[in-house]
Amino acid sequence: MAASASSRATPKKVEHVSWLFTLGSIFSMFGGPLFILWCFVCLETNKGSMILPEALTVDALKNFFVFLLGEIHRIAYPSAKAVTVYLSWVALQAVFFHFGPGPVGKGKVLEDGKTRLSYKYNGQFAWFSTLAIVAGLHLSGVFTLSELFALYGPMITVTNLFTAVLIAVLLVWAAVANKWDRQSDSIVYDYFMGPMLNPRIGSFDIKFFFELRPGIMNWFFNTVAIAYKMYEENGTISKPMILIIYMHLCFVNACYKGESSVVQTMDIVYEKFGWMLCWLDLCVVPFIFSFQPYYLYKMGLAFDYALPIAIGLGLLHTFAYWMFDTANSQKDYFREDPKEWIEKGFPQLYWGKLENPKYMQTKRGTKLLIDGWWKYARHLNYVGDMLLAWTWGVTCGFGSVFPYVYAACYLTPLLIHRERRDNRDCAAKYGKDWEEYCKIVPYRMIPYVY
Ligand code: NDP
Repeated sequence: MAASASSRATPKKVEHVSWLFTLGSIFSMFGGPLFILWCFVCLETNKGSMILPEALTVDALKNFFVFLLGEIHRIAYPSAKAVTVYLSWVALQAVFFHFGPGPVGKGKVLEDGKTRLSYKYNGQFAWFSTLAIVAGLHLSGVFTLSELFALYGPMITVTNLFTAVLIAVLLVWAAVANKWDRQSDSIVYDYFMGPMLNPRIGSFDIKFFFELRPGIMNWFFNTVAIAYKMYEENGTISKPMILIIYMHLCFVNACYKGESSVVQTMDIVYEKFGWMLCWLDLCVVPFIFSFQPYYLYKMGLAFDYALPIAIGLGLLHTFAYWMFDTANSQKDYFREDPKEWIEKGFPQLYWGKLENPKYMQTKRGTKLLIDGWWKYARHLNYVGDMLLAWTWGVTCGFGSVFPYVYAACYLTPLLIHRERRDNRDCAAKYGKDWEEYCKIVPYRMIPYVY
């Protein structure tokens, strides 16, 4: 039956991809998880100093990999407890996601030019409920933060395995139901990039769920569990650790506060849900982002700084966060149809909405904001985001590269590339209007500099 149904379906165009992309995908899918595990081994066993092969010879490389795999087996073996805890965690978040109360809104028009999917925004409900549940589990002794900390290494392996299995299931689903989006002639590449754009079971949007829920909250609770471990061992926690908790808290809360803006991003509108996106959401975010507190924990109370420095870093972060939050919010509020506007959650910040702002009407029909942050440079929202990431790194000092992995290896190259691509795309979309806009707002990211 399935075969005859699929043979009746309209044949879709299959894109050709070069073998280089297939090879790149394979390399990323082995190299990415190994990279996170290597970082963890360096943090856990070498206080954040890099462990590298002693020489570039076959023997030295072999010794290095034997050592690395041995350490991974020792400190990151995917125990049955880690699997059980992780599956329960995903199930709990799925229940909140599906049944939790929240307003329903429409996403952007998809690439077919007509579909607009509905999304329920109950992120803050899930976030605050989970905070209460985790506090209850810890205080009652049912599942403490120390137990969560003990699972940190095993969880890295579990989330990587979970990602691999989840995407395999989606691939089989796409094949059986002939539900491909932008299918290629390489099954490996389709696994990497994703077989489908917005896989859904009824109204349960799998991509939106994994984009925001289990991974981002996992990150915050990792940070808190690591800080708690420092407290258990020292009877107190350092100023850098307090700062990192505050910084991560701001960002995680922003993800749920501004959930309705996330459905406007390229990840939701354009990227398919494959290994790459899922791995970023479930493995990179909770672990690479929490290498900062892990490093601070390993440094113990020996790494600290004077109160004025801590206050300065806290203020710098608060400014960067305010810029990031309000720059995005100003544009969203300006662009959103007032009838469809969904009020953002807590906290509402000063200058988040501009009343009667200056704008430029384009021939394409859309308006370009030339007021608020948007009159100083064309992408101060990216600058705020990057400033946040670098502040998290600097808060951990300069003794290790691992607190900087997120800012240096991921966010900065991504946003610089994205700004250039966006500028090019907008120049093509808007033509002469974009030239006019660039005369009014001449700086791309940093006023008077770039
Ligand atoms: P933007 O929110 O800046 O969106 C760019 C689009 O907005 C343009 O293509 C154009 O689209 C429209 N636009 C450009 N200028 C104006 C203007 N003056 N007025 C109104 N509309 C304008 O970019 P992103 O969606 O990439 O990023 C959103 C946020 O997410 C950023 O803060 C970024 O830092 C963050 N981000 C974080 C990532 C992470 O992994 N941490 C990854 C990616 C983004 P059009 O006119 O066609 O509608």
